[in-house]
Amino acid sequence: MEQNGSDKPAFMSNSGATSTSNLAGRVFMPSELRFAAMPPLALYIHLPWCVRKCPYCDFNSHLAPQSQLREVAIQLEPKAVQSEHGFADSLPIELQRRYLNALVADLDQQLPKIWGRKLYSIFIGGGTPSLFAPELIDELLAAVRARFGMPQTGEITMEANPGTFEQARFEGFRKAGVNRLSIGVQSFSDSHLKALGRVHNSEQAIAAVRSAVALFDEVNIDLMYALPHQNVEQALADVAQAVALNSTHLSLYQLTMEPNTLFAAKPPPLPDDDTLVDIEEAVHKAAKQSGFEHYEISAFSKPGHRSQHNLNYWGFGDYLGVGAGAHAKISYSNRIERENRHRNPMAYMEEMEGAAQPLEVRTLAVKELPFEFMLNALRLVDGAPESWFVERCGRPLSDLQKPLNAALSKGLIEAQPGLFKPTELGFRFLNDVQQLFLVG
Ligand code: SF4
Repeated sequence: MEQNGSDKPAFMSNSGATSTSNLAGRVFMPSELRFAAMPPLALYIHLPWCVRKCPYCDFNSHLAPQSQLREVAIQLEPKAVQSEHGFADSLPIELQRRYLNALVADLDQQLPKIWGRKLYSIFIGGGTPSLFAPELIDELLAAVRARFGMPQTGEITMEANPGTFEQARFEGFRKAGVNRLSIGVQSFSDSHLKALGRVHNSEQAIAAVRSAVALFDEVNIDLMYALPHQNVEQALADVAQAVALNSTHLSLYQLTMEPNTLFAAKPPPLPDDDTLVDIEEAVHKAAKQSGFEHYEISAFSKPGHRSQHNLNYWGFGDYLGVGAGAHAKISYSNRIERENRHRNPMAYMEEMEGAAQPLEVRTLAVKELPFEFMLNALRLVDGAPESWFVERCGRPLSDLQKPLNAALSKGLIEAQPGLFKPTELGFRFLNDVQQLFLVG
């Protein structure tokens, strides 16, 4: 994995929390972290609006203003479902522009934190980013390029939903520099899409993926399984349709009931545990038999098409996060910080218009690092090189010795030199394995 960036001395830190006890005399406190180089750096940009809140969704997504009006219209006149442009016109351009300005202000605030480091990848997620006009996405990416260096071949992913699909729109995103499209299909079955409260139907999903595959070299399809009343054959039909459409990447997620969602309050009838296991095994097997490599718990790709951005995240790389509710993880020469921003888009924009700092900044304690690292790294099917812990946490491997021995003795981690990789049993009880690294 590419290693960008500089080993910035502690006294150049701009966050206010410095490890120097006397700057004039350059007397440094000894740091508990030692980095040979800064970890790879990615950028996440959150665009928070959707045309409807899906009943299972716990992401930071908010109803777009025009959608609120449309939902009221649908209550009054059930046939008034879509305009001629589907749902792509749900977000007023003035609001898009105001949000873009807030993002640019946020980007400006990030610059001093990552002095001299280059971006490795960009991910524009949401919400439904494809609600934004291609011209605005073009401006956004131009603003990023003007501030951060990025290799020509760097991966730039954007999430899109079939309900906002228009050919010209997808072409516009491509021209703006997006080179990977991730499409939230979830199912190709109309009845399951309805049960999931999605605004698109199967025909729109197929049209959106076909157009994406024609325009982009990298296309991911998000599919969910274990849907209400779903059986193995129906789940397999979804995978078969995705495979037939020639995407390069599949993300296969189990539908789960997350707290504070409509489904959590009123759960739909889900497949029983035995059927769930059968469905999961069947869809994983079908994806692999169709030439997809299973490289992370939920991620499958054609050879050479793994998501670089997500690999950086799972490998405990750094990422800046801009936008409402975005999280960031940034390493400095003496500490690792996590940042959170206001989840509410209006509060976020007001905050950025006042040039405020992120809502919450927290330095990770050394004892938190083993769990933080393993939480993601153990999701990788091929395992994570143990050198990543030293490189990305700035700590010696001895920090992991005790929990690692416990995991080894329970047969949860393979005894493979140089690699952290759960055994088959470990993958089945991954939460338990990760918990072992919560050291007190
Ligand atoms: S489209 Fe995606 S982000 Fe938006 S509400 Fe539905 S699941 Fe959540």
